Amino acid sequence: MKRRLLATACLILAGLCVACVIGWARSYVSAEAISASRRIQRYLIISNDGCVALSYGRFEFETPDSEQLWRGGIDHSSNVDRWSFAILHELNQIPSPDKQFLGFGAQRWEYAMTRRGTISGVTLTRSLVQFPFWFATILTGAWPAAWLWKLSRVRRTRAQRGLCRKCGFDLADVYYSCPRCGQRIPLPAFDLVAATPASPLPHRGKGDAGVAATAPHS
Ligand SMILES: [Zn+2]
Repeated sequence: MKRRLLATACLILAGLCVACVIGWARSYVSAEAISASRRIQRYLIISNDGCVALSYGRFEFETPDSEQLWRGGIDHSSNVDRWSFAILHELNQIPSPDKQFLGFGAQRWEYAMTRRGTISGVTLTRSLVQFPFWFATILTGAWPAAWLWKLSRVRRTRAQRGLCRKCGFDLADVYYSCPRCGQRIPLPAFDLVAATPASPLPHRGKGDAGVAATAPHS
């Protein structure tokens, strides 16, 4: 059970690693984001220029009146109490930390402006953590890679010791497929040179057999 859970976690990480590599390549083509928002808060995963950023933004209201004023401008046909998700392409205003090191950075901003302009007593705060895609790729790919390497080593060792590669059952040079798990035993490497029968070349006379095959006709 534990082994299955670990394998599932490893598979999920491997999938994330593949997603990181694809996201990494896409980040140089277009700035994109996945957005999840509800009421006054919004989460973003932003991909841009080789980096990925996690952003959290929320509105702060000084007084209930300022909140009321802000809510007055919301489209009332949409249900703000429900989570809404969106994929955004071609972003042109991408928040980026002022100070960065190798693509790593973090920052917090406070804006008096909202998308509808300035509303008295309303502030938008945004926190952002940024890291490079190569870091995310290593982070997600290290464990699956180590797992694969270990698995291949175990299978190779079992095969060398005459055990089933899959479950370790002792085949004792008797079975062609494992009686416990059904895994077939790989055929031994086929030695082409050793297996070629002696060439029945016609006898060409003493000393000229090799020469006749390679020398051009004059
Ligand atoms: Zn087996």
